[in-house]
Amino acid sequence: MLCPKCHKDNIAVIDSRDTDDESIRRRRQCVKCRYRFTTYERIEPIKFMVTKKDGSSEPYDRSKVIRGISLATEKRGISPRTIERLVDSIEQQLIQAGESTITSRNIGDLVIKHLKKLDEVSYIRFASVYKVFRTPKAFANELKKLNKK
Ligand SMILES: [Zn+2]
Repeated sequence: MLCPKCHKDNIAVIDSRDTDDESIRRRRQCVKCRYRFTTYERIEPIKFMVTKKDGSSEPYDRSKVIRGISLATEKRGISPRTIERLVDSIEQQLIQAGESTITSRNIGDLVIKHLKKLDEVSYIRFASVYKVFRTPKAFANELKKLNKK
């Protein structure tokens, strides 16, 4: 990106915020001549189909994933920004995997992997809601592991 005034390419971002779901507004300043200007970047929503447990599919819905994570991380002091970043990396991983079908299970597994690193209480909450543990015993064992720490 070049400065509109002096055409140097040393531009700093001084502020950025989401204007709506589809664009980010950034205040920028040329480091050279101090000229300030604003740019808008469109966020490309990620589109793919998700196959559900019952075999039906639906378009991927980022807000659903965020909602699930928000519930699991409630009162754990995890910022919405962190959750957004977490979902960003999950989406990147889903895309990079390049599978022709993505299942709700794939997404759940990735969320769990990330939550486990981020916060173990959130991880357990999420995992229990999404019934990752096949048996009550498996769930109890996971809790026991946590309590030992
Ligand atoms: Zn400039």
